[in-house]
Amino acid sequence: MFVAGNWKMHTDHRAASRLASEVVRLTEPDARVVDVVVCPPAVWLEAVREQVRNSRVTLGAQNVFPGETGAFTGEVSPLMLKGVGCTYVIVGHSERRQYFNESDAFVGEKVKQVMKHEMTPILCVGESLEERDADNAETVVGRQLTGGLGGVSLKHGNQLVVAYEPVWAIGTGRTASPEQAQAMHAFIRENLIARFGAEYNVPILYGGSVKPDNATDLFSQPDIDGGLIGGASLDAESFAAIVRAAADSARR
Ligand code: PEP
Repeated sequence: MFVAGNWKMHTDHRAASRLASEVVRLTEPDARVVDVVVCPPAVWLEAVREQVRNSRVTLGAQNVFPGETGAFTGEVSPLMLKGVGCTYVIVGHSERRQYFNESDAFVGEKVKQVMKHEMTPILCVGESLEERDADNAETVVGRQLTGGLGGVSLKHGNQLVVAYEPVWAIGTGRTASPEQAQAMHAFIRENLIARFGAEYNVPILYGGSVKPDNATDLFSQPDIDGGLIGGASLDAESFAAIVRAAADSARR
């Protein structure tokens, strides 16, 4: 099981350090059976790295530019993220696609750059409400997988994580039902097997208003391997409770 916290554009320096150290403390027993990742804003990566240094919690970034160095004002390269200690990088989050017009092809470049620098992309895919209502959810997610993973090959399953995040469930308090999420996860699983072969066990996370009180039902679905957590990851107790639900599911 795998649980990652996306802190988005929240926290100041002190709050980020405090949150990271609380996450380390509260998830300590469960981080033996769950991969626990925190993704703070880029400017706090170094401070958070200091807090997670001697723990099982690992560091992720929320975004990356698909190039190593150059005249790209304001951007952060995979080399820089690797240098500051990131193991994971979220790519193609729906907020990036929606507010920054990131295309499937651009997301695919990011995936390749992250992998080239031996970090693991957490590739986010998910349909809007309009797309779901028009019965296009699988078409959209299939297209995002093709754009994000075209030209990618795997040597082992740890090189990639996919997060299914229906846009209508992110930050809205409205979660996909466990059955809705499971159906899409099964579709994604089949797509990944067709693409890479059955030997790679790529974790598929669900994201979209996961909270301590709905995590157990979601994580008990056969194709849900954990969660990408937004709002609830800003509260160490809530995040740790979600990690505990993942650990309980892993132990079952
Ligand atoms: C997210 O932004 O990745 C997310 C899942 O947010 P929330 O948990 O707040 O819906």
